[in-house]
Order: sequence, then C-alpha cells, then structure tokens
Amino acid sequence: MSRSVLVTGGNRGIGLASARALAAEGNKVAITYRTGEPPAGFYAVRCDVTDTAQLKAAVEEVTVQQGAVEILVSNAGITRDQLLIGMPEEDFRAVMTTNFEAAVALTRQVLPAMIKARWGRLIYMSSINSMSGAPGQTNYASAKAALIGFARSLAIEVGRRNITANVVAPGMIETDMVEHVTDVRRQAALARTALARTGTPEEVAAAVRFLAADDASYVTAGVIPVTGGLGAGH
Ligand code: NDP
Repeated sequence: MSRSVLVTGGNRGIGLASARALAAEGNKVAITYRTGEPPAGFYAVRCDVTDTAQLKAAVEEVTVQQGAVEILVSNAGITRDQLLIGMPEEDFRAVMTTNFEAAVALTRQVLPAMIKARWGRLIYMSSINSMSGAPGQTNYASAKAALIGFARSLAIEVGRRNITANVVAPGMIETDMVEHVTDVRRQAALARTALARTGTPEEVAAAVRFLAADDASYVTAGVIPVTGGLGAGH
C-alpha cells in the first residue's frame, strides 16, 4: 500500500537513505531540508524544524500534496559536543530543541490525522549514546534519551488507535555527522563494536523500513539498536 511519508532531514545521511528505502516500497515520500538543494525524486519542503510555524506549514503543504502524513520519520538532528563544564547554554538548548522538542512539535502536527484515520507510524531517530552516555554529549544524550521516554509514553497513549511509536538507536554511522570524530575516538568505538566496523545509512534505513511496514504491526514502544553490537560485552 502506498502511504504518505514525511522524513525530516531527508536531504542527506540517514534521512535520505530512509526516504529512499520508503520510496522503494512504493510510498509517497516527502522530505524536509534546511540548507542547500534537495535531492531529486522526493517532494521537498524547506523547513527548519526548530521553528514550529515552519513545521506546521510543512505538514500542511505535504498533506495537500500527498495526503495526511501516515508515516513520520523524525530524523533531523545535530550535535554540539563539548564537556558540560565549558558548554555554552545555547549549545545545550540548540541540541535539545533540534533533536527532541522539534520531534514533539512535529508529532503534534501529524497526530490528529493519524488518530482520525486510526492508523499511523511514528519513528524517531535516537542514538545508542542516549543509553551508554558519551563524554561531550550531555546535551545530545539527554535529547536522545528524552525521545525514548516520549515515544514509549506516546505509544501507550495512541496504541488503541492502531498507531505505533518506535525509536531507532544507531551506533556510529558513516555520515557527515561523524566526519569530525577524531581517529582516537573512532578506533575506541570500533574496539567496542562487535562487527568491528561503522554502519551505513542504508543499514539504519532498513530498520526504519521495517518499522514503517505492515510487518511491524505488533511492534510499538520499541527501541531498535542498529549499532553493529557497539557496547556489547563492555
Ligand atoms: P547528518 O548530519 O548527515 O544529517 C542531519 C540532518 O538533519 C540533515 O538533513 C540536516 O539538514 C538536518 N537538520 C539538522 N538541523 C536541522 C534543523 N534545525 N532543521 C531542519 N533540519 C535539520 O546526520 P545523520 O544523517 O548522521 O543523522 C540523522 C539522525 O541520526 C540524527 O538525528 C542523528 O542524531 C542520528 N544519529 C546519527 C548517528 C551517526 O553516527 N551518524 C548515530 C546516532 C544517531 P541540513 O542538511 O539542512 O543541515
């Protein structure tokens, strides 16, 4: 069945891979992008997810274009790593707003139509660091952990309406986000990764595709790690 999908931050990295995977399943896929030119092949809406008015306008535009959003992939995210002792308050707030509060605001926009339709899939991009913790990431780990509490609570609230809410928790995935990670940190992470390699955006997208599919109809309030076994045994 062709569903109406919205992927935030769908212009690159994990978001783009997820958008491609969901489009390959025959869905109508819209993406949001904030900067640059969007990739071809999707209905693209420029939107800064930290601006609730822009989010609202984006959802309205997508609804007109391809119908009410039935599958939401809340993926847009940023890091601003620094030890808490030196972290400007602004950097803590920006990471919380982009990674967490924007996901909440977006959910509020798409949820009424899902409730009405008695069908919906809510998928949130967290991080395994939300559970393991990581130095320099008090902001990021907090925001990503908040997503888990949010999604699991929401799953209970909307379960009777046949709406699922799940979280994907990737490990180290080769995208622009991890480009700046130092060799020392990269090697340290790989040493704690069972598969001893980084992951690809497509490998995360495969989990997103599963959660969005009819096959995942009994999966909700879940947190799916896509980590190559990062942290296992440690
Ligand atoms: P990228 O840096 O490659 O992409 C981030 C995406 O988020 C871009 O599309 C970017 O848009 C978008 N974005 C950031 N801020 C905003 C904003 N204010 N408004 C709208 N869009 C915004 O990262 P990844 O693909 O790696 O990350 C995707 C998600 O996966 C994130 O939530 C990240 O935290 C999570 N994740 C990534 C891991 C990794 O190892 N790569 C590990 C665990 C989780 P633009 O291009 O316009 O900047």
